[in-house]
Amino acid sequence: MSRTPWTREQVLDLFHRPFFDLLFEAQQVHRAHFDANEVQVSTLLSIKTGACPEDCKYCPQSARYNTGLETERLMEVEKVLERAREAKVNGSSRFCMGAAWRNPKERDMPYLVKMVQEVKAMGLETCMTLGMLNAEQAGRLAEAGLDYYNHNLDTSPEFYGDIITTRTYADRLNTLENVREAGMKVCSGGIVGLGESPEDRAGLLLALANLPRQPESVPINMLVKVKGTPLENQEELDDFDFIRTIAVARILMPKSHVRLSAGREKMNDQMQALCFMAGANSIFYGCKLLTTPNPDENSDLQLFKRLGLRPSGVSQKPDEMAEIELHEQIAEQNAPKPLYYEA
Ligand code: SF4
Repeated sequence: MSRTPWTREQVLDLFHRPFFDLLFEAQQVHRAHFDANEVQVSTLLSIKTGACPEDCKYCPQSARYNTGLETERLMEVEKVLERAREAKVNGSSRFCMGAAWRNPKERDMPYLVKMVQEVKAMGLETCMTLGMLNAEQAGRLAEAGLDYYNHNLDTSPEFYGDIITTRTYADRLNTLENVREAGMKVCSGGIVGLGESPEDRAGLLLALANLPRQPESVPINMLVKVKGTPLENQEELDDFDFIRTIAVARILMPKSHVRLSAGREKMNDQMQALCFMAGANSIFYGCKLLTTPNPDENSDLQLFKRLGLRPSGVSQKPDEMAEIELHEQIAEQNAPKPLYYEA
């Protein structure tokens, strides 16, 4: 079904609306397409950490910056499966596996295929983020049962070169095309607070919304300033500008899950509640967001309970949230090390 592409003027117009007018419209769009009290919950695990050859200026996993991050080789399949089992018990419906690579190598493919097959067999949706994929690799992962592939556009095409020089915007679009052609769902979003202008935030959302098919999942990350990265002293973004970005994403991509991603641990409960009101309806649950801290599972569950939200795709209802205490204990025992997101 063809869609009229959004224009830059329309997107800028949304960004310039009075805050509450924008939020009201976003909430209406949200309610027309989703249950407003449901939040999709994913767990993210870094299956290969650090030593990445790319130069993304925000990322502590780049080998070019000295961030003190402990690097780890590709995890053994069985260890990944253990984490997936825990994620399922803790209420996640999707398990995302991230590797800090420019792209996967041929030698890695059989392990990746096995991970996808086994996690899928547990009844979880599967997602991976491994860097660039060629058509053949995308086809093999899709055949193994990979539901989603994450590959972010990061920022606007105009600002992109200020943040990454080792791969182009066209490379990213090419990977997204390979993922689509292989029949997988697309998870693609970006990061705000990189020093971009409001026009760049509009440009990022315009690029995402005007893809031939809109991504099913749109992570919106707030920059986490990691010491040792070139953006460690980046000026803070106004919280309201972040919420506006969520609201505009919701309006432009009404059927996509908009995910509150990296940076959430710095947001207080009221800020997160406003993001949900603006149309965010997906989060990462668990302490690992590739290399930056994520609010621990406990506080997420408490917030869900206070707002009457429930995780989608699992059987818990708000009045049954007491049962979650058991899950909280499991989560505490298994509290993983902090990680960052995006490849
Ligand atoms: S964002 Fe991804 S590609 Fe860029 S440096 Fe980090 S791990 Fe590598």
